[in-house]
Amino acid sequence: MPYLIALLFCFTSFASYAQTAENADFAPPLRIPLFLSGNFAELRSNHFHTGIDIKTAGVEGQVVQAIADGVVKRIGVSPAGYGNVLYIEHANGYTSVYGHLQSFSPAITKLVRTKQYQEKSFKVDFTPDDPLQVSKGEQIALSGNSGSSGGAHLHFEIRDTKSEHPLNPLLFKFNVKDNIPPRIRGIRFHALSDTTFINGKNEAKSFLITGDNGNYQLKAGQKIEIYGAFGISVHGIDQLNGQPNSCGLYGIELRVDDDLICAQQFDELDFETTRHINCYTDYEAFKTRAWHYHKSYLEPGNKLEIYTPTPPDRGVISIATAGAHKLNYNLSDAHGNVSKLSLSFQSIEKTPVSVDGSPKFTAYFPFDQTNTFSYPGELEVEIPKGALYDNLKFQASRQLAGTGELSPQFLVHNFYTPLQSAVMLRFDWFAIAPNLREKVVARREDPAGKLGYVAGKASAEGFEIRTKDFGKFALVLDTVAPEIIPSKYSASGAILNSRSGLRYTIRDSRAGVATYTATLNGEWILATYDAKNAALTIDVSESGFKKGKNELIIAVDDYCGNRKERRFTYTY
Ligand SMILES: [Zn+2]
Repeated sequence: MPYLIALLFCFTSFASYAQTAENADFAPPLRIPLFLSGNFAELRSNHFHTGIDIKTAGVEGQVVQAIADGVVKRIGVSPAGYGNVLYIEHANGYTSVYGHLQSFSPAITKLVRTKQYQEKSFKVDFTPDDPLQVSKGEQIALSGNSGSSGGAHLHFEIRDTKSEHPLNPLLFKFNVKDNIPPRIRGIRFHALSDTTFINGKNEAKSFLITGDNGNYQLKAGQKIEIYGAFGISVHGIDQLNGQPNSCGLYGIELRVDDDLICAQQFDELDFETTRHINCYTDYEAFKTRAWHYHKSYLEPGNKLEIYTPTPPDRGVISIATAGAHKLNYNLSDAHGNVSKLSLSFQSIEKTPVSVDGSPKFTAYFPFDQTNTFSYPGELEVEIPKGALYDNLKFQASRQLAGTGELSPQFLVHNFYTPLQSAVMLRFDWFAIAPNLREKVVARREDPAGKLGYVAGKASAEGFEIRTKDFGKFALVLDTVAPEIIPSKYSASGAILNSRSGLRYTIRDSRAGVATYTATLNGEWILATYDAKNAALTIDVSESGFKKGKNELIIAVDDYCGNRKERRFTYTY
């Protein structure tokens, strides 16, 4: 009975949203035909994609128009993330969002500049004081590649204004062509207990799939034999007409012997839970091989609201008797194209090999409580409640400090266990002299030897960081100031005119760029920072250069308080 209620409730709420979506009558956000390079709920690093990515013919500067009459609710400018972004609120309860813009309309630009000079900050995020109306089809911006964008495109979202939840824009009848069913690439069985065996081993195993045009089977010559509690996941993508890009799926339904095991559908997401993607996918398979598996079972800490109905037993399957079983996956896209995968597997009765009972872990951490661990006098670890998605067999080890390291190397669990929220690591000061403590940074090394740096807080107790990644950590020093390198045409002594642009590369080798300022003849001026290209640019026509000699100072600070300042003189 509870399942029936959940089913009815979800059905009615979805039906009303889909109906309004259909009647919304939005104009397209671009004036060119809509081709997508990404769609809603696509699996990305640490988040589900909350909109659609619309191609802009490989260039910036396409006209972006308001999809309906509305009010500019929010304007953002940032060196990362959405970059230049606009939020327009419409009377029908929806808000449209346009990201990675190159520039805004003149009226919006004026508001942005005023705000930036008021706050002396390139980065701003604000609601205009006076409501700024726009009408359907009005040019509001030019498309771009700003923020954390990997190429020219428009990132477009529709949100429910009240909840701010992003909704699937493809349910709003934009003219996007798609009659290609999803492609199924693999299926994976997951061992969910210590006594589960999949083809004789207590570990996850993937199987090869073959097929096309919506019909898929297990590739010949493979058998699947299972004992104990297990879960299943599927690797699939969608493609749209005329484009090679891999897009995300809309609906997934798994049945075993005709019983519904798990069904999910991406109508709506929630920024509060989007990071739960790290337990929704097979995190290790994603990290190591970029495989996008969709699990049809839920980790205990999974809070995503995409399952209708709530899966019985969280999608965990246990079959007590030996026998052959039918498995059916239905994968759909937002345009109603469906692909089917059918295969059979065997449940077996006896444990095929004996279980080694000796613990291979340092501590057992239940997922629903705060857990702590320490190397006394060296390292404290605190994993707050809500950080783990599942119970954890925590592992820790330590090695002697290597060259340039100020602490032992601590392996804090492993790189392939995801975290929902930050864990605290507090390192002892070891032999680090008090006068150097402000220059300490934690270095994290991944299994490929790639280094990352985490800035932290120095106190009497030690050096404290918060990190959303487990891994191998050691303390190192950052005493090196950031670099400021002018482009060829921005070297000191250059002669400028109103069409000139100044460009500098700014970067920091360890703790990272914290602040950047440009001062012209003693006054703060706007410098645009593009974090992905480490580029700081200044538009000469906008910056108040006076006739004759001008002095420009660029200053950059890193997170360890190292400052670089460079002076340039330019003739205008
Ligand atoms: Zn996007």
